[in-house]
Amino acid sequence: MEKPQYYSITVKKMNILTRHSDWLVKTQDLYNQILEFYYNLYLDTFQDGRPGSMEALRTLEKLTIPGRDRQPVQYPLPWQKVPLYFRRAAINSAIAVASSYLSREKQKIRSTSFTESVTCYKGMYRDFEGNAITLKIWTGEKWLWHRIKLRGNTIPEEGQMMSPSIVLKKTGPELHIPWKIFVKDGRTAKERMAAGEKICAVTFTNQDALTVCCVLNSDGAKENVFFVRGGAEYAHRCRQVTDKIKKSEASGSSGSSAIPNSRYWMKLKNLNDFYSHSISRQVINCTIKQGAKIIVLPEYEKEYSRILMSKAGNFSPIHLSTAIREKIKYKAWQEGLVVLELQQHNISSTCAACGASLHKKEQNFVCKNGHQGNYYLNASWNLGLKCIRGFQPKEPRTSD
Ligand SMILES: [Zn+2]
Repeated sequence: MEKPQYYSITVKKMNILTRHSDWLVKTQDLYNQILEFYYNLYLDTFQDGRPGSMEALRTLEKLTIPGRDRQPVQYPLPWQKVPLYFRRAAINSAIAVASSYLSREKQKIRSTSFTESVTCYKGMYRDFEGNAITLKIWTGEKWLWHRIKLRGNTIPEEGQMMSPSIVLKKTGPELHIPWKIFVKDGRTAKERMAAGEKICAVTFTNQDALTVCCVLNSDGAKENVFFVRGGAEYAHRCRQVTDKIKKSEASGSSGSSAIPNSRYWMKLKNLNDFYSHSISRQVINCTIKQGAKIIVLPEYEKEYSRILMSKAGNFSPIHLSTAIREKIKYKAWQEGLVVLELQQHNISSTCAACGASLHKKEQNFVCKNGHQGNYYLNASWNLGLKCIRGFQPKEPRTSD
């Protein structure tokens, strides 16, 4: 039997360089007019019961586009010469918006203005070369093939391009390209554990070493350890920004306009993105280098995290862990790694070497059997052990 293919999709965002952004606006306007037409037709046609989206597309086309028999249709499309795949993309967008309208419980008012981005199906783009692409564009008068340059991102060597979208932003037009990458190792966690693969257990702290990783072999022995640092630098850079916000609030200069402060908030968001990307990447790279095939994270517990984070303050290293965790999960899948999340009860209170309870002293611990070491690393090791125990066959209970 052939092995199933696993894949992940990442959206590569690129800036569009063109002297004719007005054409892109015209194209989007037309797209949304067609969308609105089909949106209303959908809602009028399918009043009792919604069909599947393929069925809906077929029905809507039958009502609006003359077939080979050239017989007049009930609701002819009011625009001439709309390319087939442009129309189909607009119909599919319309079906999506109309379905979400129908599933809404309250505020049932039909939308009258749409600003959906244009999705380019095959036939609407060609000759993609990584830094340039040719798109079929509506100039307001005619359709033409328009070559545009792309900047700001790189496309992986492997994988497959899917229908790109033209996204008009205030900062300029962008092309968003969903990129499909096949994942080489699609085994489940259970299969990996059965094969005796190594695991990497990861915990988060409020220290400079905000991510602590422990690599275990299948027997539970600690094979390697790595601390990913950057917590202090992150907190420091955030503080510089929050100080500026406080200052501007105190001077009252932001009272009249929120714009200077929104720039600072954007900066904080960028810091969060930058550090969580870089730290998650280091965790993934180390895991790969150590040959581990499973990453174990402590389960995200909303209430626990809320208390912990409010105590540590916003923009503290531990606060960054939410973003790091999401990015680890996302990158791991692409790299053929599996991520498991386990409850973190007791991982900090016992010694991983012997199971005795421990005493914490600043960043270190000591247990009554004399084991000592880094407190946070001990927690990571315990988390890894918990994972291994969870996959061991349950021993039958002996009754006495
Ligand atoms: Zn011990």
